[in-house]
Amino acid sequence: MIVVMKHGASSEQIDIVIKEINQFGYKDHPIYGVERTVIGAIGDEQSKWKLMDILAQLPGVDQVIPIMKPYKLTSHEVKQQRSVIAINKDVSIGGDNIVVMAGPCSVESEEQIHAAAQAVKTAGAKVLRGGAYKPRTSPYDFQGLGEEGLRMLRDAGRAYGMPIVTEVLREHDVDTVAKYADVLQIGARNMQNYGLLKAVGQLKKPVLLKRGLANTVKEFLMSAEYILSQGNYNVLLCERGIRTFETATRNTLDLGCVAVLRFETHLPVVVDPSHAAGQWSLVAPLARAGLAAGADSLIVEVHPNPHDALSDGAQSLTPKNFDALMESLVKIAEACGRTLIR
Ligand code: PEP
Ligand code: MN
Repeated sequence: MIVVMKHGASSEQIDIVIKEINQFGYKDHPIYGVERTVIGAIGDEQSKWKLMDILAQLPGVDQVIPIMKPYKLTSHEVKQQRSVIAINKDVSIGGDNIVVMAGPCSVESEEQIHAAAQAVKTAGAKVLRGGAYKPRTSPYDFQGLGEEGLRMLRDAGRAYGMPIVTEVLREHDVDTVAKYADVLQIGARNMQNYGLLKAVGQLKKPVLLKRGLANTVKEFLMSAEYILSQGNYNVLLCERGIRTFETATRNTLDLGCVAVLRFETHLPVVVDPSHAAGQWSLVAPLARAGLAAGADSLIVEVHPNPHDALSDGAQSLTPKNFDALMESLVKIAEACGRTLIR
């Protein structure tokens, strides 16, 4: 449920509401707005009506509204304004600006990640991506450089003034990844790894949650709810294509999902055209379509020499093609009433 406080409700009145929520075994999630404070109260559905009655009578409370959606904190019901998530002091995702994240699928060497960082920075990317722990279909394929890769990514990000996003594959590595990363990525294959979701929910750092290969939008939002329910509201939702009967692309980019997310949730929406496309020549049109459908950000794979890439070379853009894509995105953003930040 959502407890909407009256304009000018005092901090004592807010504290009393929170105390009552907690006494019922519910978790409080206050959202301090400019106009007024709203407190999300999430707990077991059974005692909901009784608690709602009690809260409605407390001083300073304007209204108590049940949240009908199963994803509570994630839903637009709990928060009308769209969330803007600060990646660092310079870069935020959400709002009127469009931010592009880019870099190689995997960090392969010091030289490779520096070349990639320089290229994407020059083209206007604001966040550097790169995997150090890779979820590969075959155990014999390159698995990533691990912590050494994280260090290389962080150093390249620092050298070119970009925060970094990188995947955390298992719960065991959360603290290590969090030491280096500005944004922790939960990959598609881990979207329903609830232990991992809870673990990143304990952090303050932003989480880029990718939609599972065969998951519904509702399941996707329930996974986001796992992170928010732990107190981390900094979640970016990423559509990266789903598995369908179609084989012409690696995955089917679900633009419908992008549109639905804009209605259902206040969280920023990211589109990954690279893993949807599977081949580089399809990346630009899918990226443009993603923006047009309402994405707040894109995450694009770029490699200095895609032919030599240790993972996802076929779908990686060359620096030159990435630069051309960025140019074309400026116009799409403008047509959508937004500004591409470069
Ligand atoms: C990746 O970002 O390189 C990746 C493995 O993505 P996904 O989890 O979407 O397949
Ligand atoms: Mn990849």
